[in-house]
Amino acid sequence: MSHCQKTIKKEVAVAGIGLHCGQKVSMTIRPAREGTGIVFVRTDISSRPEIPARIDNIVDCHFATSIGNGDCRISTIEHLMAAFSGMEIDNAVVEIDGPEVPALDGSAATYVMLFQEVGLKVQNKARRYIEILEEVSFRDGDKKVTLFPADGFYIDFTIDFDHPAINAQRFKGRIDRKVFQRSIARARTFGFLKEVDMLHRNGLALGASLENAVVIGAKTVLNSEGLRFSDEFVRHKVLDLIGDLYLLGAPLKARVKAVKSGHELHCNIMKFLAECPSAWRFTGNDSEYPDSLPRWGYSVGASGYGMAASF
Ligand SMILES: [Zn+2]
Repeated sequence: MSHCQKTIKKEVAVAGIGLHCGQKVSMTIRPAREGTGIVFVRTDISSRPEIPARIDNIVDCHFATSIGNGDCRISTIEHLMAAFSGMEIDNAVVEIDGPEVPALDGSAATYVMLFQEVGLKVQNKARRYIEILEEVSFRDGDKKVTLFPADGFYIDFTIDFDHPAINAQRFKGRIDRKVFQRSIARARTFGFLKEVDMLHRNGLALGASLENAVVIGAKTVLNSEGLRFSDEFVRHKVLDLIGDLYLLGAPLKARVKAVKSGHELHCNIMKFLAECPSAWRFTGNDSEYPDSLPRWGYSVGASGYGMAASF
């Protein structure tokens, strides 16, 4: 297979408001060498700390996915990570002068446009995939994510909100660059108007508006332009899942079945996978790279997770 690693041909710059912090942030995304992965750098801190986008650096995954290192944190990285994954970009350095990635329009569309404008550079080393060998799942009540062996990357996502503007929605299919660009990248984040006070009291959604989110009222969507897809909500959940899963540090060969899951469950299935060496392997051999996923003694309660046999 001629699947080589890729980076962007030239740097791109973007600025905007963080969805949760409400602060203006500027970001420059630069090309990077083979084997770099995706690395974030906080340029507003004098030591310029570098935080690789990897599962062992996840510090919070409640309302958004945040990575960090000591006191330094970068929040809401999932839409940018989805753009890297969806566009098949392996290596990039993201310089950012604040604590949160800008929300832009609430989707990954701006990144896709910028990456297409500068173009992608095919590098010399082969991509290394994480191939699932055994079914692995993680459950939290009625929410569940399962990874099955597959020859490519497939997602089957079901949501079910007790709200007339959403109800049950399902997206199912193979995810490749074309599908990502056409069907996923433009789907925006969403939130309920009735939750805004609670979120604000918790210091969340301070930058959220009709410009960067689909806002749902008592019965209908409040954005005057309406939805970009009739099932935009589940497509955005697929976008989040793609972004979160890229924190494994390599593209996945798996069929991912997700039911009502969110960032927290996505983080848990990745942490659990790292604890199950027999359930996956890296494709190809390259002694330059580690042959295991980062692990940090993750433990969970008696229920909630399992290999195939326990479900
Ligand atoms: Zn999202």
